[in-house]
This record gives sequence, C-alpha cells and structure tokens, in this order.
Amino acid sequence: MLSGVPAPTDRVALILGGTAEGRALAAAAVAVGRPVVSSLAGRVSRPALPVGPVRIGGFGGPAGLADYLTGARIGAVVDATHPFAATMSANAVLACTAVGIPLLRLARPGWAGRPDAGSWLWADSTTAAATVTRQTGRRPFLTTGRQTLQDFAALADRPTLVRVVEPPDLPLPGSWQVIQDRGPYAVAGELALMHAHGIDVVVTKDSGGAYTSAKLDAAGALDIPVVVVRRPAPDARVPAVDSVAAALDWLRSPGAGDGRGGPASG
Ligand code: NAP
Repeated sequence: MLSGVPAPTDRVALILGGTAEGRALAAAAVAVGRPVVSSLAGRVSRPALPVGPVRIGGFGGPAGLADYLTGARIGAVVDATHPFAATMSANAVLACTAVGIPLLRLARPGWAGRPDAGSWLWADSTTAAATVTRQTGRRPFLTTGRQTLQDFAALADRPTLVRVVEPPDLPLPGSWQVIQDRGPYAVAGELALMHAHGIDVVVTKDSGGAYTSAKLDAAGALDIPVVVVRRPAPDARVPAVDSVAAALDWLRSPGAGDGRGGPASG
C-alpha cells in the first residue's frame, strides 16, 4: 500500500443509484461496514431511499461529477443506474477517467434471455419502437417511461394506454390515457389492465428484473405482441457485473477505492 493512500475500505465509494440494485448494494455495503454514499437524480417525488448516506440531484455534467469525486474524497464509483440512464453512465466514465478512480458498472440482466424473447419485436430506439408499434397494433400499452413519450408521436391518433411513475411533463394526444403507478406489478393485475383496455400491443424497454416483468407474462398469456427497445450499448472499457454480490466483492477488493486503477482497469 502506498504511504498516505487509505486502505480500500477507508475511502467512501459512490453508488450512482435510482434502482433496486443501487439500494441493495448500499444496504449490503453498510451491513459489512464498507463506507458508501448513494446518489439519486431527484426526479421522483417519493424516492425509495437507500440505507446509509444519500445525496440527491445532478452533479452538473462530467466536470461537476469530477469535482464532487475529488471534493468528497471518493475512492471508487459503482454505476448502478438504470440500464437506460445512458447520460449518467457516460458522465461517470468521463469523470472517473479524469480523476483516476475505478468505476464498475452494475446492471441487472436484460430480458433477452427469457424463453419468450425470441417472439418479441426488437427496436433499436424508442422512435423505431413507435414505428413498429404503429404497424403492429391499434391499442398500444406504452410502458417506456415519461421521458420517452415525445418519441411516440407516431401513435398520436391511436387510443394508447400510457403508464408512468411521475406525471408527464408535456401535453399528450387526446386519444391517450395516462395511468400513474409504480411497480412491482403482478401478472393478474396486468392481465386485467390489458383486458380492460383492449390492449393489442405492449411496448417496453429492456429494463430487466422482476419488478416490471409481469406485463411480459401477461402479454404472452394473452398472445399480445411485445415491442422491446434494446438497451444502449455498454461501454466496453468499464468492467461490469450483473449482481449486487459481485459488486460488493468488487467494492471490498484491493484497488476499488485506494486510488489505483481506473475505469478501464477492472
Ligand atoms: P440520464 O438521462 O442518464 O441522466 C440525466 C442527468 O440526470 C445526468 O446527466 C445527471 O445530471 C442526472 N442523474 C442521473 N442519474 C443520477 C444519479 N443517480 N445521481 C445524480 N444525478 C443523476 O438519467 P435518467 O435516465 O433520467 O435516470 C435518472 C435516474 O432515474 C437515474 O438515477 C436512474 O437510475 C433512474 N431510473 C431511470 C430509468 C430510465 O428508464 N431511464 C428507470 C428507472 C430509474 P448531471 O449531468 O447534472 O449530473
């Protein structure tokens, strides 16, 4: 160990969160005495707060994050943001590279490994998903999140059911119906919802996890086509794990917090 460089467990690790995995990692780290601080974007009105210290709000781009990492003497970063939070993930790479501290990506597995994934219609973007959806059904169930709604203008004349956690911040077509809800969802409820609204196509991002996957089971049971937006490509330079246990191992390993290594060093 270099003189003056704290041991891995002595320097706080930053968990970029906003996900169940981020919360689980914070809880696991606190349980074993690994100091962490969790960061949330501050977008939702009633966020589920992780165990341990939490900061809320954007950093001000990569430069702001780099300043934070230095000022707070952060020793390692785990990017546990949602698989579709591409801007934050890219900012984390830039900031960790600039400051020279290790970065790990923790992302839950996608749904592509499910047995029914081969029957879905995959799209490379939300805009492409809108086109496919228009060609596929007349009564879509749109579950890709509030921030993607502007990309579905192709469905403006369709009676579309939109489910969001927070209210949309843009005017929506009159034929759309918005329901505000948050997971976890059960298959029975999803079946009832799709049935009640006469849904004939389901649109989702490849978020992965069990929290919102009941809609896929319900769509399968009802033989309703599913349009899935592919995940943004991961940054190949960043080591990645798909489980909280593996991320905790990394956080407790030499090099994750002692100032050695960098995003490319896994
Ligand atoms: P994004 O587009 O990748 O990031 C936009 C900006 O939000 C970032 O540049 C950053 O602002 C701020 N930000 C994002 N995550 C942050 C975090 N954990 N801590 C502090 N600032 C953060 O992000 P997003 O897709 O809007 O997601 C926002 C949050 O919601 C994330 O924490 C994510 O894990 C969670 N979430 C996202 C989705 C989704 O579908 N995208 C779903 C569920 C949960 P500055 O540039 O000012 O630092």
